[in-house]
Amino acid sequence: MRGAVLYGPRDVRVEERPDPTIIEPTDAIIRLPATCVCGSDLWPYRGIEPISAPTPMGHEYVGVVEEVGSAVKNIKPGQFVVGSFFASDNTCPICQAGYQSRCVHAELMGEIGTQAQFARIPLADGTLVATPNIPSDDLIPSLLAASDVLGAGWFGAVAAEAGPGKTVAVVGDGAVGLLAVLAAKQLGAERIIAMSRHEPRQRLAREFGATDIVTERGDEGVARIKDMTDRLGAHSVVEAVGTQESMMQAIRSTRPGGHVGYVGVSHGVELPGEELFFAEVHLLGGPAPVRRFLPNLIDLIWNRKITPGKVFDLELPLEQAAEGYRAMDERRAIKTLLKC
Ligand SMILES: [Zn+2]
Repeated sequence: MRGAVLYGPRDVRVEERPDPTIIEPTDAIIRLPATCVCGSDLWPYRGIEPISAPTPMGHEYVGVVEEVGSAVKNIKPGQFVVGSFFASDNTCPICQAGYQSRCVHAELMGEIGTQAQFARIPLADGTLVATPNIPSDDLIPSLLAASDVLGAGWFGAVAAEAGPGKTVAVVGDGAVGLLAVLAAKQLGAERIIAMSRHEPRQRLAREFGATDIVTERGDEGVARIKDMTDRLGAHSVVEAVGTQESMMQAIRSTRPGGHVGYVGVSHGVELPGEELFFAEVHLLGGPAPVRRFLPNLIDLIWNRKITPGKVFDLELPLEQAAEGYRAMDERRAIKTLLKC
């Protein structure tokens, strides 16, 4: 099969990779109609997360089940399925509590590399959710978004307790931040402030439900949020970047008693204890337990209530994955879809 492999900073190649096979009896093999590049793939792509050997890339996926292992009971060949970037058994106490991304048997799909024509999915019965039928082509981008960025934005909004009567601020205008805006809208938030200074992203944020746009960042961004909320700060803030500046911007934009949902993969963030103590805010975040939300997200997409696939503003054949990465690295594209 063809698949994307990272050789070093800014060196992605599409090459022949071995076809995946069933290794564990709980595995499934899927054929992907399309895959995509994640903002988090840019960390190794830029060399900020160094790699020690050529590394297959990708952790987002949807597809048709080709084959299942002997212990797989619910997932069947021919079904169209969506899964998350962590495989999970969906039965252990952590999964049962809704934190499948920290399942005691969790396996990171990034180690499998789903920017490819086929993928092996561990713990298929726990990991995968089947759609009601084979989707029409126009639903595939939105289902693919559910695999990671929509699920992550949704978790950020839930962790920040976005809901009726709440003012929600979103730090970060990548795909996850934009979809946190969509999630906050679906969860019934009254006012949704998107923090972005890129015009096309502001437009998409408005389309997804943002009521206000703040272009300032850092301390100036915090001051603007305070101005807009009677000096109190937002009830709910979603952090979708993962840097020191964005995390502090999120905490400082939240009112005492409010909630921060942080879903940007943390890189070098250190929280000052004394400021945290007096901020008196709730903090919940981490790798999103996308599996918790998948049945609901698939239902909303299937019934055309939401179109998270709009975050894909560049579509290329898998063979041109390198250009897909470059466009995101240079912020010419929000998110790249790769047709297999
Ligand atoms: Zn589990």
